[in-house]
Parts: sequence; structure tokens; C-alpha cells
Amino acid sequence: MDVVQHDIIIVGGGGAGLRAAIAAVEADPKISVALVSKVYPMRSHTVSAEGGAAAVARSDDSLELHGYDTVKGSDFLGDQDVIQYFVEHAPKELTRLEHWGCPWSRNEDGTVATRAFGGMTTKRTWYAADKVGFHMLHTLFQTSMKYDRIVRYDEHFVTKLLVDGGAVHGVVSLDIRTGALKTIRGRAVVLCTGGAGKIFPFTTNGTIKTGDGMSLAYREGVALKDMEFIQYHPTGLPGTGILITEATRGEGGFLRDKDGVRFLVERDYGLGKKAELGPRDMISRAIHQEIKAGRGCVGPYGEYVNLDLTHLGEAKINERLPFVRLLSKTYVGVDPVKEPIPIRPVVHYMMGGIDVDITGATKIAGLYAAGETACASLNGANRLGSNSLTECLVFGARSGEEALRYAKNAGSANEAVLQEQAKTEVARIESLRGRKKGGERISVIRRELNQAMENGCGVYREQKTMQTAVAEVAQLKGRFADLGLQDESKVFNTELINALELGNMLDCAEAVTVSSASRKESRGAHACADYPNRDDQNYLYHTLCYFGAAGPRLDKKAVTLGKWQPEERKY
Ligand SMILES: Cc1cc2nc3c(=O)[nH]c(=O)nc-3n(C[C@H](O)[C@H](O)[C@H](O)COP(=O)(O)OP(=O)(O)OC[C@H]3O[C@@H](n4cnc5c(N)ncnc54)[C@H](O)[C@@H]3O)c2cc1C
Repeated sequence: MDVVQHDIIIVGGGGAGLRAAIAAVEADPKISVALVSKVYPMRSHTVSAEGGAAAVARSDDSLELHGYDTVKGSDFLGDQDVIQYFVEHAPKELTRLEHWGCPWSRNEDGTVATRAFGGMTTKRTWYAADKVGFHMLHTLFQTSMKYDRIVRYDEHFVTKLLVDGGAVHGVVSLDIRTGALKTIRGRAVVLCTGGAGKIFPFTTNGTIKTGDGMSLAYREGVALKDMEFIQYHPTGLPGTGILITEATRGEGGFLRDKDGVRFLVERDYGLGKKAELGPRDMISRAIHQEIKAGRGCVGPYGEYVNLDLTHLGEAKINERLPFVRLLSKTYVGVDPVKEPIPIRPVVHYMMGGIDVDITGATKIAGLYAAGETACASLNGANRLGSNSLTECLVFGARSGEEALRYAKNAGSANEAVLQEQAKTEVARIESLRGRKKGGERISVIRRELNQAMENGCGVYREQKTMQTAVAEVAQLKGRFADLGLQDESKVFNTELINALELGNMLDCAEAVTVSSASRKESRGAHACADYPNRDDQNYLYHTLCYFGAAGPRLDKKAVTLGKWQPEERKY
């Protein structure tokens, strides 16, 4: 088995991973960084982001306002020290990206243009038309290529963390192209592996978002934090789940019921004047209620409401939302210049993730996490749209720098122990490849998992349905052990990859269902029909879910409050 050595290993080539890698090599020109990614970096989910990245830029805005909006959006579950750090570093990061070549859209006078986004007091979202993730990721990827100390392992799938004596010392990785396993050794590891939206059937998330990094950390004893908070984006295309960005509403789009009524204005959903510019959790619930009340339209993929852009005019749509026009025409046969777009809420983002502190550190020495896979508690119970791309930059950079600092003084490892771990991992993977003896199929377990999650942890939840989902996921985990695989080949064995991803998704789903069922209140995206109110007395804490061979264990962590005390969340 090949063994390669670097100082720092970054797992993930999306926004967070690339930013972490650049931060590390910029801080020390001699450092060697392995950038390991299961897909070519430009195929990471970051590339599909459309709407924009938030940071204070205008004279009518302030760090204070961005901080307050984020705290309120989080339904007071965000950690205020983390939020403070985030809003302070956000403008610097987006300006830095501009210097690296990111083509932000401009105002007439040449200043950076910003658009309105949900739950934000003023126009704070920087954009490059509606292809923001594409431009940001390109900028980061090209910048990373300046540094030959960033050594890329593209299409390498990390299957295990090598941990000994409470510290991480490397990873085991499968070269998807050849089927060979190798050990990548490093003194620090940063997980930037993205979210796990694929545990749900109807999602904006790319196929690769299977929660691998969350599962890797969970299996080594790191808690998954606040996993009950799943973000439903209000506007996905029925059928495919393809996202229609919030920028459509930021640019002035309206939501209408089947009779053309702007229900967010005409009916009381607690959004006041914010209407279409309210936060995602509240608008998703409003759409759900409209449909339940019989005011949705009926289509081939179930009921939906309409997103109306027709009043914006062709010129504005072409300039600001060209991608939305293309997506709508291609996937639902609708030209938004002439007709409204059918939409319904769709699973989009995970507020929860690997439990890290403000530096990105986990409780395992040398193990860091950033981006969507991590939960530093910026987003609390509900993320504001456009904070996530910026989060990847701010905390990607921080964790890259912190990993470097740690790596310089890291202790040595017990070689025999690590070799034994790697050997066991190789045996596990080899025994899975083409294992014919099992009776279960990947596609069946995956479909049942998706259904269990949708039934149990949707826009609205109930104790009964959540408990059912807990039991179903546990049962599916049991059946996973009896998986049968057909493909024995080494080269691009996608069946093997799918099996590994399914195992990771089951871990994430376990944490989501168990954490959800434990929170008997409604807060942010966690809306319980049987516990409709927020309960700060009993539930103002972060949920920690720990892996256990006999089933998960839950714990709590205090929320870091600050100048903003919890109050009723009204807009
Ligand atoms: C359609 C869509 C639109 C969005 N629009 C916006 C927006 O406008 N504004 C905003 O703020 N946010 C937006 N978001 C959210 C935001 O884009 C993501 O949260 C963010 O890009 C995640 O970046 P990341 O670096 O954490 O992970 P990703 O970009 O998902 O990258 C994960 C990386 O990890 C690698 N990886 C995963 N598992 C393994 C493994 N086992 N081994 C090796 N490598 C692995 C992958 O190869 C990939 O390189 C959007 C999300 C979606 C889905």
C-alpha cells in the first residue's frame, strides 16, 4: 500500500477546502498541503451556488446589523462570538476574492453591486449575475494553482481518518480511477466535505453530498451538532428539485397562490413588510400552509405555488437572472419573462454538522472542519441565504491557518498502530468490493432512507413521525450490513463508492432523526406541529449527537449569547 506524506491534508475541493489550502500555503511557503477530493474540484457543490455571498459593503449597512440579522435568523441559537468574527471578516474575504479575480457585478458608479436577500435588513449580498458559486470557485481554484505546494489528489475518496492517542495523523483514501487504496499521512486534517442533503429525496443538492466528512468524524467520536436543523429552501422546481435562487425575490419577485394572490402580503405569516424577503424557514412553512389550505396549483409532481417575475421585465431578468431563465425554460418549459415559475420547498442546506469551535477545531487534536460539513454555530436553527458562501471563506481560511499552527508542533504517532488501522481499513474496503453474499441492494435501502427522512423530518414534524423515522433509520442501518454488491472491478467502481456513501448517509440520517426527536419545541427550521412554540427555558442549547456501536448518545452544549438576548422572532 502506498504511503504519501504531507504536512496538512484538506479533504474537499469546494469553497471551504480551496480557501483553507490557500490560507495554509500563504502563511508558510514551505508547507506541503494535500488537497483530496472525490470529484475534480470544479465539480464541488459550491459551483452550483447562484444567488450571492453576504458581507457589509454599503454605507447604510453595518457589522452590527449583519450580526443582528444573523442572530435573529438563527432563532437565537447561533453563537454570538462566532457571528461577530464572521461579520468582521466577511468584507475582507469578499474583497480578497475580488483581488484574486472574482468578477463581482457592479453598480453604475463602479462600486460592487449588492442585492437584497431573505432576512437581511439591507442589500448585503454580493453577486456575479446568478452564477456566483461558479465564479467564486473558479477564482479559488485558479488561485490555488499558483502554489505547487498544494498537491491535488482528484477523484480520491477518503474512507477513514487515522487517529491515535487523541490526535489525527492522516487518512486512508481510495483512488477511484485505479481502485488502489493509499495512506495519506499529515499532522493535521481539515474536513471540508460539504453537506448531506442527499439523505432526502427532494433536494437541491448535488449527488455527491452524502455527508462523508460528518460520518468520518462521527465514527471517531466527534459529535455531530444541531443536526435537527435542515433548511428547506422555499423555491425549488417540482420534479427535479433544481434551485431557483432567492435572488429572484431579492430582485423583486412575488410568490402567488393559485388565484394569483400574494399570500405573504395578504395573509399573516408573521413576516410583515418583509413578505418575499423573509427568512427561508418561515416562507417554506407559509407555502406548505397555502398548499394544505387548498390554494396550491396541481401539477404532475404534486402541488406547488407560483414565483412570479413577469413584472421585472426581460432586460432585468437577462442581466441579473439569466441562469434562472435558462433553468426554468429547460426543466419546466416556462419562460419567466412571460409566465410564473412553479416552485415548492426543497431540502437545501444543513445548519448542523461536525462540532467545531470558532477556530474550526474538533475535540480530536489536529482535526479541523469548515464549510457546510462543520457546525461552528454560525447559522443556529436557520441560516440566512448568502451567509454560507461567505462562511466557507471566513472559516475555511481560519481553519487552514489553525491547522498549520497545530501541525508545526504536532506530536509524533505510533507507527505500528496507524499501520494496523490502515490495514484493517483496506481489508474492510476489499471485502465490500463485489461482495455477492449479501441480500440487500443499495438502491432499495437508499430509497427507503429517503422516504423515512421525508416522512419524519419534513418542513413540519411531529413526535410520532420523528420516532418512526428513528426506528426506520436504525432498521436500515442493520440491513446495510447485509449489502450485496455485484461489481468486482477496480477501475471506477461506482457501485463501491455508492455503497460507501450510503453508509455515510445512514450515519448522518441517524444523527438527524435522533436529534430531531429530542427537541420538543419549534425553533428555526425545526417546526414541530405538536410543540409549536420556542422554549428557551428548556431548549436554548446545541444538541450533540455521539456515535455509539449500540446506538447514538445525545448531549447538550451551551449557546454563546452576547449583546442580543432571545426575543420573539418577528419581522
Ligand atoms: C444549488 C445550490 C445553490 C446555493 N446557492 C448559495 C448561494 O447563493 N449563497 C450561499 O451562501 N450559499 C449557497 N448555497 C450553499 C453553499 O453553496 C454551500 O453550502 C457551500 O458551497 C458548501 O461548500 P463546501 O466547500 O463546504 O462544500 P462543497 O462545495 O459541497 O464541496 C465538498 C467537497 O468535498 C469533497 N468530498 C466530499 N466527500 C469526500 C470524500 N469522502 N473524500 C474526498 N473528498 C470528499 C467533494 O469532492 C467536494 O470537493 C447553495 C447550495 C446549493 C446546493
